[in-house]
Amino acid sequence: MTKIIVAKFGGSSMADAVAMKRSAGVALEHKANLVTVSATYGTTNNLIKLSNTALTSEWKDCELIVNEIVEKHHSIAHDLEITDLTQLDKLLSEVKTISKGINLLKDCSPKAFDAIQSLGERMSSLLFARALEISWEGKKAVENFDIRKVLRTDDQFGKAQPIIEDIKSLCNKHLSKCKSGEVIYVTQGFIGQSEDGFTTTLGRGGSDYSAALIAEGLGADTLQIWTDVAGIATTDPRIVSEAKLMSEITFSEAAELATFGAKILHPTTLTPALRGGISVYVGSSYEPHATGTWIKTECSDAPLIRAMAIKKDQSLLTISTPKMLHSHGFLFEIFKVFNQHKVSIDSVTTSEISVSVTVDDSALLNKKLISELETLATVKVEENLCLVSLIGNNINHTAGLAGQIFNALGDINVRMICLGASKHNFCFLVSDARAHEAVKKLHTHFIGE
Ligand code: ADP
Ligand code: ASP
Ligand code: MG
Repeated sequence: MTKIIVAKFGGSSMADAVAMKRSAGVALEHKANLVTVSATYGTTNNLIKLSNTALTSEWKDCELIVNEIVEKHHSIAHDLEITDLTQLDKLLSEVKTISKGINLLKDCSPKAFDAIQSLGERMSSLLFARALEISWEGKKAVENFDIRKVLRTDDQFGKAQPIIEDIKSLCNKHLSKCKSGEVIYVTQGFIGQSEDGFTTTLGRGGSDYSAALIAEGLGADTLQIWTDVAGIATTDPRIVSEAKLMSEITFSEAAELATFGAKILHPTTLTPALRGGISVYVGSSYEPHATGTWIKTECSDAPLIRAMAIKKDQSLLTISTPKMLHSHGFLFEIFKVFNQHKVSIDSVTTSEISVSVTVDDSALLNKKLISELETLATVKVEENLCLVSLIGNNINHTAGLAGQIFNALGDINVRMICLGASKHNFCFLVSDARAHEAVKKLHTHFIGE
């Protein structure tokens, strides 16, 4: 039986017509049945900037950003020799209309914000379908498919949750032609649709997650994530230039890396892949013949420290009250507040009368969260922190590891430590200003130059 392959190309693989044609060649050579794409490089950021400018500034400031988006997409269309711009211009005028609406009302609802952000992927998929047609020279039919017909989500705009069973049946209903290789679909990452028909997004970097959900829905054999680095490295090569590429990593290690900040994968990407028994490969669309990284259930080795990651923009909330002393149910009351506000906690430590948790800085925008916590206890907030994680194996059963870590860190102050819950992770908080230095020191000690 032929294998079903879903390939995802990120923003840098969609940077311009040259990158698109190169990526199309990779999809052809690697036998993709369905391709999921991100917006062209920088476009999601630009759409977000446009919405923020529309909220606060005059239309002429917005117009500059709209024009930049129009020029970029027209220039790629021109280089791909697209002569009929009707479809692209329809999407570009949607960018203008929604931003004009935001500007007139000085109001950007989460629904409007998702609608405008979705246009990045809707435009890039249109252009990429053309790049595929050029590369494939008519050997196969190429169809730009609107993934909102399949990727059903709830209505939490900005971080919509997929409805897995619906996605599976809709994949069967709409996309099964690609299984036989009759047609290759080009679809949009990052976006979905709520049950009542509104466009949603899965959160920044969500195209990886979309591709994994579609791969699961199709019962695919392999998910290929094509990006701008030739696989998963021991840490972000932008922070440590000596970072080494790894040919394999386990699902558990890769999931910890992604959850604890490694941008290479959206944190939830591996969940559908694991559920669906799908092999995952990460490679570079710029160097498609480099080894890349396979994510596996088991690897040939299980090093104590395989990799490290940084999660930026973290805040530490220390919630204290003498009422905690010898009482029960207090943590439950506190976590209930986080649950009600749908705020996710990354790490926790407790003492006799206080509990400290780390959250993304964005959680602090929700003033109600803090004021509700303050009805239970005093709350101290510390900002500008980073969570540094070491990821590997048997971490919670290895004598002397903490000593090695603190020796390597030297005079960098550690604000909070989390050790023990996972055999794959040791993480701690440091100030934003010293986070890169901390990772460099740990990388030199555990991985080497
Ligand atoms: P895409 O647009 O293809 O989704 P991203 O920018 O989201 O690409 O992710 C790729 C980037 O992830 C790399 O350029 C690199 O800077 C960063 N990164 C972070 N941690 C790692 C890691 N451990 N290995 C490789 N890249 C990493
Ligand atoms: N375009 C979206 C973003 O920049 C989704 C993605 O690229 O994965 O966040
Ligand atoms: Mg990404």
